[in-house]
Amino acid sequence: MTVSLIVGVGVGGALAGYHVPSPLALLCQIGMALAAHQAVEMTFDGGFSSTYRCQQPGCAFVARVTTNNAGERRRWQEIATDHPHNDWP
Ligand SMILES: [Zn+2]
Repeated sequence: MTVSLIVGVGVGGALAGYHVPSPLALLCQIGMALAAHQAVEMTFDGGFSSTYRCQQPGCAFVARVTTNNAGERRRWQEIATDHPHNDWP
């Protein structure tokens, strides 16, 4: 969250130099702060992702788990294992 605030404040400071109207600058600050927050979350929280993809031609079953929650990961592994075309080891 700290990184997001730094990015937001930094963008605001940069835009102030270009005389951007403050409501627009505020929106840009919020947007950049949210984007930075999302990037940090994806890097550190969701960085350990697993993808289960069905190998059967014509089947589009894909389960992508991006949480570190052990129970949630286990639940999705079971869903992938229960898939009817499952031939994974
Ligand atoms: Zn399938």
